[in-house]
Amino acid sequence: MLSIEQRFDHSAYVSMTMEFRCNLKCVHCMIEGTMDYLEPQSRQKFDELLAYNREHQKWSGLILTGSEITLHRDLPELAIAAKRSGFKHVRIQSHGMHLGKLEYCTKLIGAGVDEFFISVAAADAESHDSITQVQGSFQKTLQGMENVDRWEHTISITNTVVTKKSYKQLPQVVDALAHLKNLAQMEFWFYWPMSGKDDKSLLVSHLEMLPYLQEAVIKAQALGRRVEIKNFPQCLLGDFKHLLVNGQPQLFIDPVFWREFEKNGFYQCKHRENCQSIECLGLNSAYIERFGWEEEILVPQYNG
Ligand code: SF4
Repeated sequence: MLSIEQRFDHSAYVSMTMEFRCNLKCVHCMIEGTMDYLEPQSRQKFDELLAYNREHQKWSGLILTGSEITLHRDLPELAIAAKRSGFKHVRIQSHGMHLGKLEYCTKLIGAGVDEFFISVAAADAESHDSITQVQGSFQKTLQGMENVDRWEHTISITNTVVTKKSYKQLPQVVDALAHLKNLAQMEFWFYWPMSGKDDKSLLVSHLEMLPYLQEAVIKAQALGRRVEIKNFPQCLLGDFKHLLVNGQPQLFIDPVFWREFEKNGFYQCKHRENCQSIECLGLNSAYIERFGWEEEILVPQYNG
């Protein structure tokens, strides 16, 4: 088993997208327009990855992902095969609803899944369900996380996408999950629309969102959680700038996804040439179109 810090080393993990169906309709979904035609990785590719890793021992952890991986009928078998091939940890990325059924949760954990990356859209049922557009989803997700928490060897990680609909609730998201013992890390992903425009009007300005983010980080850290922030100007994070982690494990996904991803137009900043931040993604096209370049509030970093 890896130490807790190693379990958050993105270079030790590899992701495979095995399922592109989903039964939520999150308003912030970044692949809703592409889900219908993106192809999941085949079982043959999956088996090839296992064989490669058995030989080269490149990664310790496998992440099974897609739109909603628990809709993949063979998920337990995939986890069993991954463990047999030598992966120490198997993580799923999920909305967590199906884990609310204890029998299914037990089956997955028995198959070797020991890490659960769960999307939590907001802090209460009304807000969460209005974002996922499925009534009852918050309760099922919370039940799923509580079920996972019954096993001592599991860890969970949450991901909250920060939009106009969720940003004021970030501290309350931390509170709502405070009772979970195995929640090791909370991630806050500043929304990107996979488009050059904020077509759904979900973006919120950095400075408007920042106090809520800071409060959430302080609360999460007080509970002993690790925190990662994604897609936020590093220079605005002050004492929390080390929490900006935009890196991800190597991802095997339909190449068409990257064509869509490029529409975001990351890495734009008026200070880019003077800034030595290696982690910052700068601004993206939709943000600039909505709020401008904000060069007067952004400050070039001189120490990476
Ligand atoms: S000045 Fe620009 S590139 Fe540098 S940290 Fe700030 S937003 Fe990122």
